[in-house]
Amino acid sequence: MKKKRIDLISLGCSKNLVDSERLLKQLSDCGFEAYHDSDEVKGKIVVINTCGFIGDAKEESINTILKFAEAKDNGNIDKLYVMGCLSERYREELQQEIPEIDKLYGKFDWTNLTHDLINSYPSTLPYERILTTPKHYTYIKISEGCNRFCAFCAIPLITGRHKSRPIDEILSEVKDLVSKGVKEFNIIAQDLSSYGLDLSNEMMLPELIDRMAQIRGVEWIRLHYAYPAQFPYGVLDVMAKHKNVCKYLDIALQHINDNVLKNMLRHVDKQKTLDLIHTIREKVPGIHIRTTLMVGFPGEDEEAYNELVDFVKGIKFERMGAFAYCEEEDTYAAKNYEDTIPSDVKTDRLNKLMDVQEQISLDLNESKVGKTFRVIIDKEDKEFYIGRTEFDSPEVDPEVLIEKTKKLGIGEFYNVEITEALPFELFAKP
Ligand code: SF4
Repeated sequence: MKKKRIDLISLGCSKNLVDSERLLKQLSDCGFEAYHDSDEVKGKIVVINTCGFIGDAKEESINTILKFAEAKDNGNIDKLYVMGCLSERYREELQQEIPEIDKLYGKFDWTNLTHDLINSYPSTLPYERILTTPKHYTYIKISEGCNRFCAFCAIPLITGRHKSRPIDEILSEVKDLVSKGVKEFNIIAQDLSSYGLDLSNEMMLPELIDRMAQIRGVEWIRLHYAYPAQFPYGVLDVMAKHKNVCKYLDIALQHINDNVLKNMLRHVDKQKTLDLIHTIREKVPGIHIRTTLMVGFPGEDEEAYNELVDFVKGIKFERMGAFAYCEEEDTYAAKNYEDTIPSDVKTDRLNKLMDVQEQISLDLNESKVGKTFRVIIDKEDKEFYIGRTEFDSPEVDPEVLIEKTKKLGIGEFYNVEITEALPFELFAKP
């Protein structure tokens, strides 16, 4: 019997990608030929895993749904299913506005899809997945949801309260993935810092990472989405202790001005932020800190903005991304603050901040010229092998372009010497 083909389109963040990978496995275990993000959709059944976090992401999700609604109207596909954050947030509205959608699933009930398709649930283990990333690295989602309720953020409205996965289940998943050839584990959550608080009233991230680092075959563990308040300091000792825990920490700080941080409901102030950064760098020398900052939040006057610029110039984050505030309905900020800062002012502030960061990134990269770093090879193109050091998270951080003077293997580690630097790229020789 020819297997039925299903096309799954994944939008949004790596946390969404993990859900898509779980669904791919469930569909495949139910006898479907499941494809992910194909250039050309050839199946008659399409599933879209949407993002509903912020304006642009929502727009991309809606446009993707409309594209396949049209394909259905033209008879190119038979069934259209939508899941994920956008439909978790706007289920009724989407069904009314786009009647071509056969069924909507939210952030969690998408596991019913296979039952709706073939009246049975697969025997797939909860963490089993079909990986869509290059086979040597993956994302490990250790919890879902968030209890922080930052004033600008809609995520808690979509994902609900913070819920940690059991530590043994996560470690079993890692062991299983190591046996399938995965070497690099990117740890993700909405709020990494709170891991375990709901399980044992203790911050369990240090224990989780310490035990994960002792699993044979785990070459790299990299931490993302930490939160500055109630930070699990013990994880810094674990990072310093284990060579295979990357000297890297992604921690969104959003701002530095006390008044703006207070209005953002970030539960942290300037001094605590500076102390935290100082402790991170003291406990883990050479660590690369990635942060995310926001400009244009209601109440951010010129003085507060200049304080943010001085902060970035002073701290010199090894990695930094920034956004302009975008009002999200139903958030505390939307209900309590006027979004009065003109968009051209927001854009100017954003561009100026990124210009400052570009110079910082170039200076840092230039300081690496002539030095040797261990890299993993992700892929190759005509001219280069493309790899990353322990300081580079996939998709978001600089890559290392390695000249093809020697044959290198995808998914393998090599020591390479940096020969040239650009703001967001390094060149190297094997
Ligand atoms: S910690 Fe992150 S996910 Fe949670 S509310 Fe704040 S910004 Fe949103």
